[in-house]
Amino acid sequence: NYRCRSAFKLLEIDETHNILRPGISVIDCGAAPGAWSQVAVGRVNATGYDLDAPVGFVLGVDLLHIPPLDGAVFLPHSDLQELAVQARIQESLPAGEAQVILSDVAPNASGIRELDQQRLAELCFCVFELARRVLSPGGTLLCKFWDGTNSRLLHSRLTQLFREVKTLKPAASRKESSEVYYLAKYYRKS
Ligand code: SAM
Repeated sequence: NYRCRSAFKLLEIDETHNILRPGISVIDCGAAPGAWSQVAVGRVNATGYDLDAPVGFVLGVDLLHIPPLDGAVFLPHSDLQELAVQARIQESLPAGEAQVILSDVAPNASGIRELDQQRLAELCFCVFELARRVLSPGGTLLCKFWDGTNSRLLHSRLTQLFREVKTLKPAASRKESSEVYYLAKYYRKS
């Protein structure tokens, strides 16, 4: 039972691209109400349910309250745009590192398309900064974006930071939405 339909987008992406595996540490940016974290907890074996597999770690961050979830650590009421929050995230991670960062972050829609895109682009850049701070070499970033004017800028920044960048449009996304996900693999830590 997932808390939100968005779980199916992550399941679909992970099915094809194998980004989550037992034992790794994952950050879920914009985690509320917690459906992606539910998927991540299962895939990384964060509860230790599979006794034969290594135990992973899931850290969810959101502006909003996130109902507790077995196997996940949550930082609610936390704005990813604040440096203090980024520092809290780093302190909360085992060894201060994550192998995967997931971002389904989205601003409250104002209805003005350009403005919403601009705000989401700013949030994406904050997630990239977080990656530079805590992502381990070779790590993966999955990041939601609304396709539009800033797409090329975000994409080119990602290609500087990662060896491989793909643009994904999950079937589970509503067809009419301009939502896409960037899947960036093999982080080049400098
Ligand atoms: N992936 C989630 C799930 O499956 O349950 C759904 C995420 S929802 C589409 C986007 C979330 O981004 C919202 O809960 C919102 O509060 C959060 N968000 C927006 N701006 C944020 C910010 N600056 N810092 C942290 N979270 C933010």
